[in-house]
Amino acid sequence: MAIVYIGLGSNLDDPQQQLSKAIIAINELDDVNVMCDSGLFRSKAMTLNNEQQPDYFNMVLKLETQINPYELLDRLQAIENDQGRVRQHKWGSRTLDLDILLYDDLQLNDQRLTIPHPGISERAFVLYPLQRIETELDIPGLGKLSDLLKNVSVEDVQFTGAL
Ligand code: ATP
Ligand code: CA
Ligand code: CA
Repeated sequence: MAIVYIGLGSNLDDPQQQLSKAIIAINELDDVNVMCDSGLFRSKAMTLNNEQQPDYFNMVLKLETQINPYELLDRLQAIENDQGRVRQHKWGSRTLDLDILLYDDLQLNDQRLTIPHPGISERAFVLYPLQRIETELDIPGLGKLSDLLKNVSVEDVQFTGAL
């Protein structure tokens, strides 16, 4: 069994409802067991060209699974599509974004997949939720979670409690 962390984000069409639906859909995947979640966080949108966007709701899930990373990405993208994800431009608003943050101690970098997820070390909305699940975590190739947290601002993300 691999231990996998998934980052969830939404800023359109009732984000909290989108995240609840996504957790159910992920847990219903064959050979996937959702072990726990980080609770709900709120963050300012990360945008290009100062585009105005609603705030994001973010969460991290810890899973155990036997599905390989590529198959898992396919299944997560199918859930994004089911929930009306439209890909317009980079970092545009979306109903649902599902990123594979960590997959065991795997390090991978090819056209389809980079693991650990490339944004992980500078994103408060990823690092703070991860810390609520695991206080000490080694991020392959990047170091300790507690050290990465020193480089992001706590003001960029707000914990809003259980979903
Ligand atoms: P970002 O990746 O910076 O968070 P994004 O989530 O908006 O941006 P998407 O449009 O959702 O980007 O994804 C673009 C592509 O990123 C996907 O089609 C996928 O092939 C690729 N990708 C690479 N590594 C990962 C990963 N670890 N998890 C999810 N997608 C990944
Ligand atoms: Ca993303
Ligand atoms: Ca994504």
